[in-house]
Amino acid sequence: MTTNSTTTAPGTARTALVTGGSRGIGAATALRLARDGADVALTYVRDEDGARTVVQEIRSYGRRGIALRADSADPDAAPAAVHRAADALGRLDVLVNNAGIGVLGPIGTLTPDDADRVLAINVRAVFLACRAAAELMGHGGRIISLGTALSRHAGGPGSTLYTMSKSALSGLTKALARELGPRGITVNLVQPGPVDTDLNPADGPFAAGQRSATALDRFGTPEEVASLIAYLASGEAAFITGAELAVDGGHTA
Ligand code: NDP
Repeated sequence: MTTNSTTTAPGTARTALVTGGSRGIGAATALRLARDGADVALTYVRDEDGARTVVQEIRSYGRRGIALRADSADPDAAPAAVHRAADALGRLDVLVNNAGIGVLGPIGTLTPDDADRVLAINVRAVFLACRAAAELMGHGGRIISLGTALSRHAGGPGSTLYTMSKSALSGLTKALARELGPRGITVNLVQPGPVDTDLNPADGPFAAGQRSATALDRFGTPEEVASLIAYLASGEAAFITGAELAVDGGHTA
């Protein structure tokens, strides 16, 4: 990671919090940021072994790594994780709002409880983590959230609730970019296409249609998404804010 000399003293590592860092895109992002030289905190809910493995690998790069159990469905958990990460690592330079769930199905099958849970994890927790990070971050800070390419091109039926929740992050990203821009903090939204993870396995029942909907005729890897996030987290991306960036193999082309 390119350090930003306006915030980080020479020889001092950047610090990051990645929500949902025990598996998938979040784990790849935590590892990539650590490889680029950041100290990294991550949250998880169920996969304690995965979180421990990621932390061990972060430490193998000579960086500090910590795992925090924090269920984004709990409104106190995500902002508390932001504060705990900043306390443990000394400050917070980068927040990656990655934790998310997908509840799919025809609209008639989706319940009020489904709506509450998806909006709590995919939207409310992101808002509250951003609110906490905005208090703590200094010049050069980075807030990066995970949306979906489905917000640009839904592709097929069954994703109303998930796509609605992720589309809310577009509004949050743009408005917060305006609010935090004067403080030198950037806010961006990464919109992946199909990425091979537990959430959306490349050999899953809906995989063939998703693969053929991309220009490259394949799923992406978590590392390919992490690469864009790492760029946005770096000093090289200092003039990019309020942006929605697709990393989708041409799903929206
Ligand atoms: P995975 O299901 O593979 O991993 C999800 C991660 O989020 C895990 O670390 C999980 O923790 C954590 N998590 C789940 N629920 C909660 C919660 N309530 N509180 C805190 N953490 C939670 O997902 P992906 O890596 O595929 O997805 C990551 C992000 O990217 C999501 O926001 C997703 O919507 C988005 N995305 C994914 C795409 C894909 O095709 N895979 C495409 C477009 C966007 P634990 O292991 O402890 O359960």
